[in-house]
Amino acid sequence: MPTCPTCHSKVTEPLKTWSTVEPGKNGKILECVVGIYWCTNCKTKFPYVLGKRDLKLIENRELQELHEKIKMMDKVEQELTKKIDQLEKEKTVVEGNLLLTRLEDRFENLKVEVSLLKEVKREIEDMINYLEHTSFFKLQGEKP
Ligand SMILES: [Zn+2]
Repeated sequence: MPTCPTCHSKVTEPLKTWSTVEPGKNGKILECVVGIYWCTNCKTKFPYVLGKRDLKLIENRELQELHEKIKMMDKVEQELTKKIDQLEKEKTVVEGNLLLTRLEDRFENLKVEVSLLKEVKREIEDMINYLEHTSFFKLQGEKP
């Protein structure tokens, strides 16, 4: 939490925040989120860096590819889910049979596969979300 540089009171709410970008290392972009705070105790106005993060410029084409990847993963996920359904049906049919153990293994493996896939998908979705909602030169909140 930002502290007033004059009287060291804690200031919770910024008057406004915005982000700045500057070139970073290795072709990355450094984004700083800066807030202007106003100390109610001693009436000092001061800036405070709320956060920094490295951004990477990404081409639209690359973003498009990520979207495609998600679509593909959706398909794979659907297929796997179908397989699981099928296996569940098979399972009920062969219940009591020796095959059951083997099917259950496959069944468990598929379930793990699906959950992994969902995990990866979510990560890519997060990345896309992040990329699409990060507008490098757009001010956040009010204009400074
Ligand atoms: Zn103060």
